[in-house]
Amino acid sequence: SSSFTPSLINKDDLALKQVIGQGFYGVVIQATWRHPEDGEIECAVKILKQTPDKLLKEIVNLQKLSHENIVQLYGVCLEEPLHMVLELCEGGTLLDRLKDHSKPKPLVTTLLKYAIQIAGGMYYLEAKGCVHRDLAARNILLTKDEQKAKISDFGLSRHLRPDQSQYEMSESVALPFPWCPPESLRNKKFSSHSDVWAFGVTLWEMFQYGTEDPWNNLSLKEVLEKIEAGKRLSKPLYCPQEIYNIMFNCWDFVPQSRPNFSTLINKLKEVELDIYDLNKK
Ligand code: ATP
Repeated sequence: SSSFTPSLINKDDLALKQVIGQGFYGVVIQATWRHPEDGEIECAVKILKQTPDKLLKEIVNLQKLSHENIVQLYGVCLEEPLHMVLELCEGGTLLDRLKDHSKPKPLVTTLLKYAIQIAGGMYYLEAKGCVHRDLAARNILLTKDEQKAKISDFGLSRHLRPDQSQYEMSESVALPFPWCPPESLRNKKFSSHSDVWAFGVTLWEMFQYGTEDPWNNLSLKEVLEKIEAGKRLSKPLYCPQEIYNIMFNCWDFVPQSRPNFSTLINKLKEVELDIYDLNKK
């Protein structure tokens, strides 16, 4: 991991190709960027419909970040509308991959590898004082060879000031509530601890193979009632017990009692070793 300075990109240096996605704020197009020194770089260009404050924040948040498991912002094109030039992840979203029945299901070892990578990216974000707030399988992208998982969609993330360990939302942004811990649902408090809760839900989505949404069909109020009554998402059928234990720990009612991302990486690696040993026997 290092720091990176995104470029100011000239629109004439971008050759736009086909549409690869459609988000709330705009369209995503595959493109070639003619880099002045490095030659042609394949990329994804997010062309924004408008540039509300939330998106300017997304751009500011992304620009200092550089990690192999975070979608890199290469630069921006200060055109109207604004273009964000991003690292291309041709494997698409992890959620779409899980649901894709035309391909074999990812192996448990593959999911575990993604989980370790995502925890690695989140550990980096945590160290940078950045709270993501929308970690979910739909916001994880895969590389073309499906070897790497990368965290994307910083629309909701906020940089924390050094004196703040959690961020209280002032504006009314729609909450991804099935991924949120009680303190976020009740008091709109977000922190790295709430990202850990969402990481647990993301793990659950992975081992559920996208066949069901977390807390399917429940309202925010109903989810909160269940959680406060001590209920948690149940173990997906094909999820090893050791991995379920890890997600379960992410759902501790007390934010400070949840594991941090460094602990999560170690625990996931232990499971990886156990599976490796089992396969050797
Ligand atoms: P938002 O909350 O900003 O609307 P979103 O996930 O709905 O988030 P985008 O981030 O704009 O929307 O992405 C829309 C789709 O475009 C994604 O679901 C994905 O399929 C595709 N996409 C986005 N970024 C990339 C990228 N860097 N590489 C490849 N495909 C991408």
